[in-house]
Amino acid sequence: MYQLDDSVLLIKGIGTNLQESLSEFRIDQVLDLLLFLPLRYEDRSDIKTIAEIKSLSVEDATITKSEENQKVKTNFATTKAKVSKWTEYRKGRLLIGRATIVDETDQINCVWFNNKFLKNKIIVGQEYFFSGNLKDGSLMQATVEKVADGSENIHTGRLVPIYSKLGDLKQGNLRRILAEIISKLYKSADLEQVFRDLHFPSSIDKIITARERLSLEEILYLMQKSAQNRAEHQKKAALYSLEESAKNTNLELPFSLTQAQEKAVAEIFTDLSKKAPMNRLLVGDVGSGKTIVAAIPACDFVRNGQNVCLIVPTKILAKQHFDNLSNIFKEIDFELISSDNKKTKAKSEKETKKTATFYIGTHSLLNKIKDINPSLVIYDEQQRFGVKHRQLEEYLDQRKKQPHLLSMTATPIPRSLMLSIFSHLDLSYLDQMPNSRKMATTWLVPKEKEKKALEWLVKELLSQNEAGKEDRKKQAIIICPFINPSSYKATENVAAVKESLDSIKKELKIIYQNLNVDKKNQLKIEALHSKLEKTKQAKIIEDVYAQKIQILVSTPMVEVGVDLPNADIIIIQSAERFGLSSLHQLRGRVGRKGQESYCLLFNSKSDEMINERLHKFCQEKNGLKLAQLDLENRGAGDILGYKQSGLNDLHFASWTNVEIINQARDQFKKNPDQKSFLQKYLEKMNLLETVDSATN
Ligand code: ADP
Ligand code: MG
Repeated sequence: MYQLDDSVLLIKGIGTNLQESLSEFRIDQVLDLLLFLPLRYEDRSDIKTIAEIKSLSVEDATITKSEENQKVKTNFATTKAKVSKWTEYRKGRLLIGRATIVDETDQINCVWFNNKFLKNKIIVGQEYFFSGNLKDGSLMQATVEKVADGSENIHTGRLVPIYSKLGDLKQGNLRRILAEIISKLYKSADLEQVFRDLHFPSSIDKIITARERLSLEEILYLMQKSAQNRAEHQKKAALYSLEESAKNTNLELPFSLTQAQEKAVAEIFTDLSKKAPMNRLLVGDVGSGKTIVAAIPACDFVRNGQNVCLIVPTKILAKQHFDNLSNIFKEIDFELISSDNKKTKAKSEKETKKTATFYIGTHSLLNKIKDINPSLVIYDEQQRFGVKHRQLEEYLDQRKKQPHLLSMTATPIPRSLMLSIFSHLDLSYLDQMPNSRKMATTWLVPKEKEKKALEWLVKELLSQNEAGKEDRKKQAIIICPFINPSSYKATENVAAVKESLDSIKKELKIIYQNLNVDKKNQLKIEALHSKLEKTKQAKIIEDVYAQKIQILVSTPMVEVGVDLPNADIIIIQSAERFGLSSLHQLRGRVGRKGQESYCLLFNSKSDEMINERLHKFCQEKNGLKLAQLDLENRGAGDILGYKQSGLNDLHFASWTNVEIINQARDQFKKNPDQKSFLQKYLEKMNLLETVDSATN
């Protein structure tokens, strides 16, 4: 019998080699492996005769069940047949395998490329399941599975889970190992069923129900955690309280605050004047101007001799806040902390640092929090409400007096819902946009017009450059999604960015030829991703700000609050992979100065449902309504997982699933002390992720 917290080494079929390679993927315990969820499922449940397969036209074969569930790939046919002929030959560097397979109805050819293992697997005269795509009358790259004798078939004849790569571990072996664990799981029968439905579902509905269970547990964990944090935080006194007379009343801001901003600032000031430490969440759509709301009281702290820490998810964002804020609040000492400059700063630290400072940095800032001893800690783009980084928790535990805490988030959760879940949090809402801000005009670009759209983009960018009258040039961002976020190895994502960059460059070359653009006028284009050398990353960002780069190709990392004030156009590739809320966040990256801006959606897969969803997005400019639409699309959106876009901070749940959130709240009310079985797992993942993002 296996326990959820058993080491994977105890599992039959896992030795030390495999254990080591799994641990690279942060899979150490049985539960980690069980929560390594399929990327998608292939429908091999519908076994067809060869005659039936042959009668499928290509179009038939690609009418998918994706309306129901986009993760089930169904342009796919499975048949059970005998091999009557097998040959293998080379064509240049290509190894081609060919088999003729027969059943009682007909025969068909199967073709494989570069699969050197097949010749050992396929035995002429034996019967197998073949699952592959029908193309030009042949089954292409089919998976070959032996017909199992008696025991439950986990590889075919059903919805078969397909996982992202786990080192050298083969899909088949992974499935076998998972089946072994699930069959001998020492835990309630109910959990066993959840895992069975996640990995070996008997229907799509079962997958949805099981994923909902994980969502519920995650929300439950968040509620418990934030309630607990809150209780502990408020037991202690604040390190420092701001008196009315300590406020700077003649602030000179480059703009006047919106009413919503004024109100939020006032709410924060009220908290800060109390003896109990603040624990407030500031919620506002992208571009609603949260930064300044936090910075105004923070700067009053610094003026009064108190240190402040602003913790942000990425280095890019840290730099950006540093530049913007030090520009607005010229009399305040700001310091940008990054793990790179640890050494250089440490040297000077002893001599200087008498004046209060506004520190800005990623989570690596927490390494220094003891020395800094801040009276106010601000978390930007915090999505796990009230759940703090463990390092900060430990720090707070040791303190007799507490710093004030302010978290900011753009997650679009309606106020009423927020209050009903996290009734113990104090909330400030920015439900109003600065006047100057217009949302980007959005178009869904059909596949055949993508080239035209790129040409339009080039013309737009070039026309500005040539005019040369205005002091600013136009810029564009092209977003390519993470390919495989469930893999912690970033290489695949990097490959995606590089591939996008290459193909865009190719297109641009053709466009330049057509438009007769000579070399010196061509646009500068660069790709940004987390595995670039740090200095290279910094250089690219610097060049983007200095407008030396006109087109930036990036993973969705720009989503997390980065302000590229000059960017006018954003192209989002594979837009169907993103939830509408995530698309909205991305769209909010352009037109930040109030200039006319555009968002172009490219679609790598299109069916009616997807198109309809994206069309709605083009028309709807309100973040909350989009969140609602995400909710209505639950079946598709949730399983497809925002995780796939790399944007959602939650592991299993989604903030748009109100039903689940309400269920969790009811359970929490009934039994506030009940521990989620995901607790340890989520704590570990949260910790690891914050470490990751700090090194990004
Ligand atoms: P977010 O809420 O997404 O974090 P930011 O704080 O980054 O938004 O603000 C977005 C942009 O809007 C920034 O360039 C900021 O200077 C500007 N801004 C903020 N408040 C106002 C305002 N009241 N009027 C005009 N511009 C504003
Ligand atoms: Mg922000």
